[in-house]
Amino acid sequence: MTTVSLNPSPIYSLSQRAHQIKESQIRESSRYCEKFGAINLAQGLPDFPAPEALKEAARAAIASDMNQYADSWGWHKLREAIAQKMQRDNQITIDPETEITVCCGATEGLNVALMTLIDQGDRVLIFEPFYENYIPNLATVGGIPEFITLHPPQWEVTEEMLLPAFKKGLKAVIINSPANPTGKVWTRTELELIAKLCQEYDVYAITDEIYEYIIYEQEHISLMSIDGMRDRTIVVNGFSKTFCITGWRLGYVVASPYLSAAIRRIHDFITISAPAPLQYAALTAMEFGREYFTNLADDYRRKRDLFYPVLVELGFAPVLPQGAYYIWTDSSMIAKDADSAAFWLAKEALVAAVPGTCFSHPDREKVNALRFCFAKKDSTLESAIANLRKVCHFS
Ligand code: PMP
Repeated sequence: MTTVSLNPSPIYSLSQRAHQIKESQIRESSRYCEKFGAINLAQGLPDFPAPEALKEAARAAIASDMNQYADSWGWHKLREAIAQKMQRDNQITIDPETEITVCCGATEGLNVALMTLIDQGDRVLIFEPFYENYIPNLATVGGIPEFITLHPPQWEVTEEMLLPAFKKGLKAVIINSPANPTGKVWTRTELELIAKLCQEYDVYAITDEIYEYIIYEQEHISLMSIDGMRDRTIVVNGFSKTFCITGWRLGYVVASPYLSAAIRRIHDFITISAPAPLQYAALTAMEFGREYFTNLADDYRRKRDLFYPVLVELGFAPVLPQGAYYIWTDSSMIAKDADSAAFWLAKEALVAAVPGTCFSHPDREKVNALRFCFAKKDSTLESAIANLRKVCHFS
């Protein structure tokens, strides 16, 4: 990957939007890895293989010529399977005919959800630290982020924190549970608080549940299942993380028929459809039994419990995640700011992490923290641990 310059050009005149959108620091930190030959604990992607049955199903779908555009709303059998999953795991009854749209990853899902709801100048509440994409996603629709900063170790949300933002006037709130980068899992009490305020102040919710099965001590609750939220919530979800297929670009959006009709129109003109053969293959994933999901969470819990204590022992100040596959840690013991800390770590320890600044308000005093991704083979984590042990002694 090469960095693209947006310096003023005598030839090209870019949109304001293009100038507003900065390069992703998450993807950029992968470049450190190439430069220094570091182990990539930066970008949120597993380095182990996808389930064999899925690869086989994808090969079979391509071989049997399921290679043309799919139904724009998503292959109907896949939509039916998603509806069944939502009934079984989220206790929400969904009509697959009118309420589900299969799209190109949760990334497209978030963008179409925002395009459906947000006009220029609409305020959208996000909780900091947040997933990096939310800011550029909002910039593309002209939405204005309203930030609430959460604090470790609980990252808890209270009514006092929420009220000023709701009183100011919001069009929507984005909830990410389990959350990237903090691993926060929203509790029922917190979700009920959001539900109460969304109804009182007439606010929509977009809920990004991409890590719903990567969960440790707490249970995952979908905001849409909370009283009064059924028709004012857009659920964004996907297959990338649960089935270890981030490259397939498959996700889905669930919303009431009225919202879904608009989501579908926008989605159709952006991508027409998600990749057809991979939708057929994803049906195989939806048929995996309960054991698959239990093993997934157990495996990630084991990896978390392998990596987290080492960070503690070396004198970092990590926060134990309750879900997702990241560890957030203070990095002020390494350098004066997060970018320098990430650079030092990649160069000296040959381990790449993402600087916490990209998960934070752009104008706020710089956050000095790092995010490590532990969705890696045990051997990768062990090599990273050995490297860290050689140069990191902060305690
Ligand atoms: N939401 C969050 C919170 C994520 O961490 C990611 C991936 N890093 C996405 C959405 C994007 O998922 P997808 O691969 O389905 O586009």
